[in-house]
Parts: sequence; structure tokens; C-alpha cells
Amino acid sequence: MALIDLHTHSTASDGTLSPTELVHLAQTKGLQGLALTDHDTVGGLDEAMAAAEQHGITFIPGVEISAQIDQGALHILGLYIDHRNTELNNILDWLVQAREERNQQLLEKLGDLGFTITAEEIKEVAGDFVTGRPHFAMVLAQKGYVKNQQSAFKKYLGSKGQAYVKRRKPPIDWAIRAIRQAGGLPILAHPDQTKLKGKLLENFLAELRRLGLEGIEVHYSGYTQSQIWKYARLAKRFDLVESGGSDFHGSIKPGIQLGRGPGGLHVSDSLLGPLEERARLVRENADASD
Ligand code: AMP
Ligand code: ZN
Ligand code: FE
Ligand code: FE
Repeated sequence: MALIDLHTHSTASDGTLSPTELVHLAQTKGLQGLALTDHDTVGGLDEAMAAAEQHGITFIPGVEISAQIDQGALHILGLYIDHRNTELNNILDWLVQAREERNQQLLEKLGDLGFTITAEEIKEVAGDFVTGRPHFAMVLAQKGYVKNQQSAFKKYLGSKGQAYVKRRKPPIDWAIRAIRQAGGLPILAHPDQTKLKGKLLENFLAELRRLGLEGIEVHYSGYTQSQIWKYARLAKRFDLVESGGSDFHGSIKPGIQLGRGPGGLHVSDSLLGPLEERARLVRENADASD
């Protein structure tokens, strides 16, 4: 069985490998297929696509969008997107703007706490596209203000930290619609992170399906066999296609290898057929309703 990984991050968001390095690593590991799904940006896709073409790897252009939910975290993956699509870029611009506002407030709060950190220092580690809290954690650790990135989150950046600032998230219907308009498949990432269980999770999935969700991440780093079975059952019940990936970030999440996460994660290339088929159907329907 050949392995694939449909959930990964690069330096375009908060991963530590460049898109090219990520594709090379996929090649070294013998992965058959790879999706790059950076948070709130498609900035790494051109580079990754060019590298994948040279290596003969099946590459799926993707993105991971955070959306509004009352508790927990709601992340929607978009696979098979046309990353030049205007509607998609509109929501990504909105997300980056909301991040910039949050990052500015975060800098001010850290300043009030007595730390000397500049926007330039953050930009230096974050690169050209998305700046996230992990970059703040890196700078705090580099400057010796905390012993490591984990403690930066615990003391300052995490939701109970002294400098915490919430960032605005788009409504879920907008996130799903933007991905569909870009010809992509909207997929619920790491469903356990919604913190919803039982009937509440079922109702939520029914609602997301109605809004145009097409898939659910059944295989994810750390998932037990019983979680995999549970999400596979829910996928069948709500007519969602199964997806899977590690959420690889490079050295900032050292427990996760590309294509291999904790809990014996392995994602079979047999998922690709149904995903491609569903993406084709969604695009056909979109064309028919033009
Ligand atoms: P942001 O999207 O900029 O708000 O940053 C969110 C990212 O920070 C998440 O994707 C995680 O990778 C990381 N993160 C959030 N909370 C923690 C934590 N308590 N410890 C380590 N990393 C965290
Ligand atoms: Zn991340
Ligand atoms: Fe996520
Ligand atoms: Fe992710």
C-alpha cells in the first residue's frame, strides 16, 4: 500500500520546511501523494507545485482555513483548490488582515509586560505570508524571555496566557463557500478539536453538510483505531468523503513525521480516488449552476 499525506504546513504559514523542502522530504519518504494545506494562505503552492512536477509526486493544492465556532477549534481544509480564484483570495485577505490586527495588539501587550520585541523581528522569522503565534513563541524563546516555545504559549500566548488576544474568524458558511467557489473540496479537519461529541457532533455535521461540506479527516496524528472507526461511520452517514493527514509542521511539532504521526498514523493512497471523484462532481455541479 502506498502512503499519502493530505494535511501539511510549510514556511508559508508556521511550518519549518520550505515548500520545496517539503516536497523533497515526501519524495525521500516514498509518499505517493502530498497536499500542502497552509493556514490561511496559498502563498507556498506555486513553489510546491513546481517541485512536485520535477519529482513526479501527485500534488494536491490545498489550504486550511480557521472559522468561527463557540468552543474548540474549527478548521476547514480545502483540497484541489484553484489557488488563483478571486473569492478564495478574498477570504484569505480578510483572514490575513484579522491576523495583522491581532498581531499588532499582541506586540503591544508583550511590550506592556516589559518585553522588547519589534514587528521586524517577528517578520524575520515569519517570512512573507502568514504570521502566527508560533512565530511569536520562537522570538520569545530566541531572545531568552522564555525557556522554550511551549512555555511561551503557557505563560503568554495561549488562551490563558497574559498576552492572549483573540483573532477574528470568518463564519463557517463563508469558508465553505469560498473553497467551493475555487473548485475545491471543503473538508472538516481534526473533528475532535471542535470539542463536540455524540448528538451535538452529529447535528453539527448535518449542518455543515447542508452548507456544502464534502469531506472529513478520518485519519489524523494521534487518532486511535476507535476514533478512526467513529469518524469513518460519521463520514458514511453524512455522505462525506474520507480524508487523512499528519498535520506535519517540521521541527516545531517534533512528534509528527511527514506521512507518519503518533498513534501509528498512515494514510493510504486508496483515499485519493474517491476524493478526486468528489472534487470532479463538485466542479461539474458548479459549472452547471453558472
Ligand atoms: P494563530 O493561528 O496565529 O492564532 O496560532 C495558532 C497556532 O499556534 C496553532 O496552529 C498551534 O500550532 C499553535 N498553538 C496554539 N496553542 C498552542 C499551545 N498551547 N502550545 C503550542 N502551540 C500552540
Ligand atoms: Zn500550524
Ligand atoms: Fe488545524
Ligand atoms: Fe494544520
